[in-house]
Amino acid sequence: MSAACRACPRRCGALRASGELGVCRAPEDFVVARVGLHFWEEPCISGERGSGTVFFSGCNLGCVFCQNRDISRGGHGRRMTDDELIEAMHSLCREGAHNINLVTPSHYAFRLADVLRRAKLPVPVVWNSSGYDSIEALRALEGLVDIYLPDMKYLSPDMAAKYSRAPDYPAVAAAAIREMQRQTGAPKFGEDGMLRSGTIVRHLIMPENIPNSLDVIDWVEREFPRGGVLLSLMAQYTPMPDMPYPELRRRLTAEEYGRVTDYLAMCDIEQGYVQELEAAGEEYIPEFDLSDVN
Ligand code: SF4
Repeated sequence: MSAACRACPRRCGALRASGELGVCRAPEDFVVARVGLHFWEEPCISGERGSGTVFFSGCNLGCVFCQNRDISRGGHGRRMTDDELIEAMHSLCREGAHNINLVTPSHYAFRLADVLRRAKLPVPVVWNSSGYDSIEALRALEGLVDIYLPDMKYLSPDMAAKYSRAPDYPAVAAAAIREMQRQTGAPKFGEDGMLRSGTIVRHLIMPENIPNSLDVIDWVEREFPRGGVLLSLMAQYTPMPDMPYPELRRRLTAEEYGRVTDYLAMCDIEQGYVQELEAAGEEYIPEFDLSDVN
């Protein structure tokens, strides 16, 4: 009899090896939606040659505003064996990828730990997750992941329940990001400006929810003083056509964006990235150093 899955904070107990799908909708086997060079991450991740992304199908969170529902809920993708995944990652390295970037990997955490141990990749490994990772899973990844790239979506359990069906998200993500930062330490860059190790905390600014963004900035400042992490503020929120919540049926306004970036400029956060409002996920302005404006 196969084991009940408790790989992520949902701990839903699905018998994945027997074909049962849990909250994440992912089978036991890897299902990969896309493998390719990606140029729209933070500059220290994408660089000039691109980040070697592997997009996993399935997701343990289920956000109402998800832009990738075919992948996160629809099971879109191709099944891959461990050996095929290792070859795909090495192929990206041969194409010049600055790093191997595992996107939405949380529901495969323990299997990926085994794969990464075998793969012996010549470039940094990036764990690009929603932040909804269990401490047990992160401990299994210690020494195998060089760069953590988690979201901190909300600090309000009510928001997390409403938008992601996960009222425990704030507590889980906060603990996970502390563990990630403990593993990586402060950000370290190579001479080429690429991030070699460290943790980047991403936050998507959402319309009508500006106080949440200010809370997240405060949290980062309080938890990681003296540049313990990089903060990446994202402004690309795009409403889905069937959005059930009226407040999320529009993009961010310039006024909302300005409130958040003005607030950030007054905080004691030394390094990070702010996405341009017009970028819609395609461009980042260069790294800023807020120590200059304090
Ligand atoms: S990884 Fe998927 S099946 Fe396993 S506990 Fe999490 S949601 Fe359930």
